[in-house]
Parts: sequence; C-alpha cells; structure tokens
Amino acid sequence: MKKTEMNSYEENYWQRRRMERRRRRRQIRRKVLLLFGVSVLIVLSVWFAGGKFTEWRSRQRLLRADNASFVGAPPFTVDLLEVNEYSRPGTPLKEINGIVVHYTANPGSTAQNNRDYFNGLKDSHETKVSSHFVIGIDGEIVQCIPSTEVAYASNSRNDDTLSIECCHQDETGTFTQETYLSLVRLTGWLCQRFGLDSSDVIRHYDVTGKICPKYYVDHPQEWEKFLQDVDAQIKEVEKEVRAAS
Ligand SMILES: [Zn+2]
Repeated sequence: MKKTEMNSYEENYWQRRRMERRRRRRQIRRKVLLLFGVSVLIVLSVWFAGGKFTEWRSRQRLLRADNASFVGAPPFTVDLLEVNEYSRPGTPLKEINGIVVHYTANPGSTAQNNRDYFNGLKDSHETKVSSHFVIGIDGEIVQCIPSTEVAYASNSRNDDTLSIECCHQDETGTFTQETYLSLVRLTGWLCQRFGLDSSDVIRHYDVTGKICPKYYVDHPQEWEKFLQDVDAQIKEVEKEVRAAS
C-alpha cells in the first residue's frame, strides 16, 4: 500500500467510526426521550386517575351522609357550644363504636339549661363536661357538639362514642314519656346512621360503674326493654331510608 492510499484508508475508517458513533448517540437520545415521555405520561395518568378517584369517593361518602342525615331523624335543634377546652375541645372523633346514655342528675333542668351550662364552662372553668345531645322533659332535643368531635361525657369511651344526656323531673331519674320517645328515636337514628345496633348502646354505668342513668341502673329490665325499642326503631329508620332513596 502506498502512503497516500494508506492515508485515505485510515481516513475512511475513522470517518465511518465517527458516523457510527453519532448514529448510536442519536439512537440513545431518542430512547431516553421516549422513556422520559412515557414516564411523564404514566405519572400524569396515575395522578389524574387518583385525583378523580378520591373526588368520586368523597362525593359518594358525602351523598351517603346527606341521604342518611335527616331521614328517620327526630326533630332537633342544633345549638353548638363554642369551641373551648372545658366542654368542646374540638378534637376529631376518629370512630363511633357506641352510644352512651346519661341522665343529668339535675332534676327539673331543661335541655337548653344543660346546653347553656356546658357552654358557660368556657368562662367558669368549673369542670370539664358536655354531651353531643341533650333531651329535655318535653322531648325536645338539642345538639351541642357535632358527631365528628369528642364530647366530655363518658370517660374512657369519649374517644369512640356519641353521648346523650336526658333531663328528668325528680331524684328517681325516671324519664317522662316524651323524653323516652325522643331517646328511642334519636338512638335508633344514630345507630342506623353510623352502622351500630342496640348492643352498641350502653349506659354510663357500663363504662365506669357510675349510677347514671339512675333509673336504668336501678331497673335493668327496663333498660333491656329500651334496647328492644331501639332495635325496632332502627328497623323503622331503615325502612324510611330505603323509601327515600
Ligand atoms: Zn353520665
């Protein structure tokens, strides 16, 4: 081989190598771009679908709660306590596993009196006590705390129960017929709404041994009768909810 031939041979060789390298680099760049594009697409789809799903789920939940909210409920007034550490701490209730029934142990007081007493604790700092609902001797019901928040009524069960305080006329703690009927209707509705049954309905006495609600601690058979009435009421509410949907 002559010197010039050799030179052009080498030149060709290196040119080929350069072109090949360039082609390979282009190929890699294309692959990386494609991979990047596909990844972005996947991330976007997952993000979009996830958002849509969450949106759909919260809407379903809201619809269910709306439907269940007042169908089958007894009439009641919402007069919420102001958020304060003595009666409405504003702590979220993480689950509802039961309903606790109480009596006020304050003969002759009305539902409103008791609600106002709870609310006044924010200034008096006398003690820490409250209840989600209070039922008066005429059967009137006042809601003091949303069912999404903790009330100070049932000691160790504050964290997973709703509470109902009942007014009474005298020391025996007997409920009037009106109070009793409202209690059955309210308890039945709450059970249906939160997926509970009568075995989840307890007395304050069952938590701490405190004589509360006095009449039903003194008369356990009457308490059993009450639970039967709650069972019947749950079925009644279920019927109303079915009819309404
Ligand atoms: Zn009690």
